[in-house]
Amino acid sequence: MDRDDRTVEGHEADHRGTTKLRWRRVIWRGMRKRCPRCGLGRLFTSWYTVAEQCPHCHLEYESRDGDTWAFMYVTTAGLTGVIIVGMLLFRPPTLWISQVVVTALAVGIVLLSMPYRKGVAIAIHFISETVWSEEPDSTRH
Ligand SMILES: [Zn+2]
Repeated sequence: MDRDDRTVEGHEADHRGTTKLRWRRVIWRGMRKRCPRCGLGRLFTSWYTVAEQCPHCHLEYESRDGDTWAFMYVTTAGLTGVIIVGMLLFRPPTLWISQVVVTALAVGIVLLSMPYRKGVAIAIHFISETVWSEEPDSTRH
């Protein structure tokens, strides 16, 4: 009886530990453009075309349209803010050089980071669905 109680407590502690660990692992998988659940399947079929599902574990990447839009908007706005602050801090020798450099940098940073940000967005969406389906009462007080 006593031993059973300890086993249950230990299991709960382990469960919390693995949940915390999984967060980081799932985000990291998204940044590497891999399936958030298994880490094996590729998220994209081309540069920015998200696959329908994982070829390994068959997880649907974007079960509903627009689930990852908010994250993409926020990160694009954040990057734009960083670029604007960079423009204000940088004193160029000539105006036209700064215009060319800033435009190229801004377009490059925003476009090149898109698949990685999308991967993180899909990972965060996967985490939110996992958390809400496993522990429906833990977020309510
Ligand atoms: Zn998978």
